[in-house]
Amino acid sequence: MFEAGLREDGHCMPTISLKKSGTGFRLKYGDVDLALDTGIRGMTTLLSHSHSDHIGNLKNASHIIATKGTIDTWQARRPDNFRNKTVIKHGDMFGQIGVNITALNAGHVLGSTMFLLEFDDDLKVLYTGDFNNVDSLIHAAAKPVAADVLITEATYGSPQWIFPERKSIYENILETASKLLNEDRIPLFHAYSLGKSQEAIALLQNGGFKVITGNTSIDKVSSVYKRHGVDLRNFTIHDTNLAKTLDEGAVIVSSSYRHTIKNMKRNLGEAFNRYETKIEYFNLSGWTIGKFREKGFPLSAHSDFKGLLDFAEKVKPRIAYCFTDNGRTLSKHLSDIGINAVPIE
Ligand SMILES: [Zn+2]
Repeated sequence: MFEAGLREDGHCMPTISLKKSGTGFRLKYGDVDLALDTGIRGMTTLLSHSHSDHIGNLKNASHIIATKGTIDTWQARRPDNFRNKTVIKHGDMFGQIGVNITALNAGHVLGSTMFLLEFDDDLKVLYTGDFNNVDSLIHAAAKPVAADVLITEATYGSPQWIFPERKSIYENILETASKLLNEDRIPLFHAYSLGKSQEAIALLQNGGFKVITGNTSIDKVSSVYKRHGVDLRNFTIHDTNLAKTLDEGAVIVSSSYRHTIKNMKRNLGEAFNRYETKIEYFNLSGWTIGKFREKGFPLSAHSDFKGLLDFAEKVKPRIAYCFTDNGRTLSKHLSDIGINAVPIE
């Protein structure tokens, strides 16, 4: 539990309490009691997006506030239906007793949202969820707003994760795809199914490549992106003419190598071995740089270290709470640039 300090005018204000709970947090301030990215029995949840590390115990929530993009991408992969939900658009405000809640674009995946909470005594709290402060081909960048309290993700909150310009990452991916296809190889780009896969498909199709999606969970999410107006044109691993598409030269985007191989085997039969040996695997992730150095390209849907610092500086909070693994490191660096910050662990 953490406590915000005195207001700038020196008057006491109620204590803000922020506790880790399941995949998210429980925030209490005065009479307001909210769950962020987790379900707590009988409570309202503000759901930033539908990645699996943000949706624990949602069946316990009595009410969910989320964008249509978040609800749709959730339902594409799960049969659950939220009975009591409020669908909020970016820029819209939802008022409930004691607090006004505004949804802001987080730039991370379809529908991803930061929540700005404005309490009756004017205290402003910004909860980022996961966010990206850089434009991608299919998601617009998150923009900072002023707040007294910032609750920020810290996924890449260490100086070892400073990403190159997105444009140059894109160019490197396209060049590699081109080079491998010229060598009669099959480039396979691993990207998680919600957000990154769709960015990879858009990039590769715009680069003139035939794109095959390697597993069904990508296709389920892509159908939601298409409904939301994103132009994605790809073949699937289940297409009857898969061998012909591969022979003509195609790249694979997959969120599960194991499922992709299984699907290829089933579709190609005896010819499978001939294609499997041509596959070259690349990960699309921030973890391809820094201490993990996985083989691939640092294409991330999160802000990098510099982005996190820059964002926090613009929010100008009196206190920042940093969550995820690098929360402690980011807190230290924020403190070094004059922002009072603590990790939530
Ligand atoms: Zn996420």
